[in-house]
Amino acid sequence: MTYDFLKELGIEDVNSGAAYGPFIDKPSGGEMVSVSPIDGKPIAKVLKASKEDYELVLQKASAAFKTWRMVPAPKRAELVRAISDELRAHKKALGKLVSLEMGKILAEGEGEVQEMIDMGDFAVGQGRMLYGLTMQSERAKHRMMEQWHPLGIVGVITAFNFPVAVYSWNTMLAAVCGDVTVWKPSSLTPLTAIATHKIFQRVAERFGYGEGIFNLLIGSGPSVGEMMLNDKRVALVSATGSTAMGLKVAVQVGKRLGRTILELGGNNAVIVLDDADLNMALSTVLFGAVGTAGQRCTSTRRVLVQKGVAKQFTDRLVASYKQVRIGNPLEAGTIMGPMVDQSAVADMQAGLKTIREQGGQVLYGGEVLSGPGYESGCYVRPCIVKARRDMPIIREEIFAPVLYIIEVADMDEALEANNEVPQGLSSGCFTLNMRHAERFLSAEGSDCGIANVNGGTSGAEIGGAFGGEKETGGGRESGSDAWKQYMRRQTSTVNWGTEVQLAQGIKFGD
Ligand code: NAD
Repeated sequence: MTYDFLKELGIEDVNSGAAYGPFIDKPSGGEMVSVSPIDGKPIAKVLKASKEDYELVLQKASAAFKTWRMVPAPKRAELVRAISDELRAHKKALGKLVSLEMGKILAEGEGEVQEMIDMGDFAVGQGRMLYGLTMQSERAKHRMMEQWHPLGIVGVITAFNFPVAVYSWNTMLAAVCGDVTVWKPSSLTPLTAIATHKIFQRVAERFGYGEGIFNLLIGSGPSVGEMMLNDKRVALVSATGSTAMGLKVAVQVGKRLGRTILELGGNNAVIVLDDADLNMALSTVLFGAVGTAGQRCTSTRRVLVQKGVAKQFTDRLVASYKQVRIGNPLEAGTIMGPMVDQSAVADMQAGLKTIREQGGQVLYGGEVLSGPGYESGCYVRPCIVKARRDMPIIREEIFAPVLYIIEVADMDEALEANNEVPQGLSSGCFTLNMRHAERFLSAEGSDCGIANVNGGTSGAEIGGAFGGEKETGGGRESGSDAWKQYMRRQTSTVNWGTEVQLAQGIKFGD
C-alpha cells in the first residue's frame, strides 16, 4: 500500500467485508482484490460475506431495529448530524479513495463526499419534519390522522459509479426514519464501502448504538444481493444499477410483495435550439458527456440540436473535446480519468462497432489509449458520433463517454426524439424562448424524472427527488418527500365520543 490516506480511513492490506455494526473478524465467503483503474495495480484485499455471515448480520439488524424504531426521530437525527461532521473531517481522504478505486477525478470524488454531507444535513432537518396529515372525520367526536412509522430493514444495493453518495441518499434518510440498513456495494468499489462504513460505525458506537444500525455485506450481486431480494425480513430493497439488474430485483422482491426503490439506467438528451445560448450549452454538454468518463446514470448521451446551429455547435464541441486532458484522476488538471475497468472499455468498443455498422459517423475520439500513464488499459478518448434517430443503438445505454449528435428540425421533433428512448431519467433544453422552455416542462414535454431548462442532464442537487421514469425504474431518492418510502403510513381514527358510529352512515343490526 503506498497511499497514506488509506491509513487515515482504516484500510488495511486485508479487510473484512461483512459488518453487523462491528466487522466480522474473518468472513468466510472467499477473497477478492480491489484493483485501481488508474494503474491496474491491486489496492487491498477484501474477505467477502458468506451465507452464514449474511444470516448473522440480518439477525443483528432485526434486533437493532426493535430498539432504534423507539428512539425519537430528532434524537436519531443527532446521530446523523455527527456522521456528517465525521465525513467533513475525512472528506479529502474518502474523496481520494473514491478516485483511486473508481477512477473519477478528484474534484468529483470529493464532490461525492460533499453530497453525502449535504444529504446528512438535509436528513437532520427532516428528523423534525416526518409530517402526517390530519383529516376531517365524517363522524362526530372522531379524530382522524395519519402517522409515519419506521419500516424495518432496508437493503441498499449500489452501483460502482457513485460508490458512496447513493448509499448516503438512502442511509441518512433511513436512519432518521428509524430504519436499519444493510448495504451491498458494488464489487468494483468495496474499499470505499468499508471506509464509509467505518465512519458511520464510529459515530454509531459513540452514541451507544454499536450493533445492527449500519450493516455491510460485500459479495457478488447474484450471491449476497439475491439473498437480500428473497429475504422477507428486508422490508425495502433500494437498488441502483443497470436496468437488467433492476428487472431481476423487481421480479424477485415482487414475488414476496416486498417494496423496492429502483434507480436504473438512463439515456439522457440535451436539446439545443437555434435560439440557445451556445456558450452555456457547450460547456454544459461537455461536463455532462465527459464527466466521470461518461459513467454517470445522468451522463449526457444524446444532443438533439436544431439544424440552424448544428454545424457551429458540433465544430465547437469537437474543438472542446480536443482540449480534454485525460490521465491520472488524482492529478490536478485532469478532466477525465480512466473507465472503471477493462471490461467497461471492451463494452464501449463493442458499442462503437455497432454504431459504425448502423451508419453512425465517429467525428472524434473513441480509441483506447496506450503508452506511459495509460498502462492499465482503462483510458479512452471521449467520443462524438454523428447519429440518426433511426439507429437502434441510440435507444440503449452505452455506459461510456460516447455522445450522439442528432440533428432535429424544430421543437416538435426535438421533444419526440427526447422521449422516444425506453429510459426516462434526465433531460435538458437550451433555449431563450419562453414558450419552448415552458413546453419542455409541460405535460407534453420531457417525459423524464428530471427536466432542466438551460441546464444539463447531470449534477443534480440533493434537495430535489432524484430518479426517472420508464426503464429507469420509477424510484425517487434523496430530497423532497423521498423520505416517505422509508416509512410505513398508518391511518388512525380515535372515537372520543360515547356512541359507536359506522362510516358511510351504515346502520348495522337495527
Ligand atoms: P450493475 O447493475 O452491474 O450493478 C449494480 C449493483 O447491483 C451492484 O452492487 C451489483 O452487485 C448488484 N447486482 C447485480 N446483480 C444483482 C442481482 N441479481 N441481485 C442483487 N444485486 C445485484 O450496475 P453498475 O455497472 O454497477 O452501474 C452502472 C449502471 O447503474 C448504469 O446502468 C447506470 O445508469 C446505473 N445507475 C443508475 C443510477 C440512478 O440513480 N438511476 C445511479 C447510478 C448508476
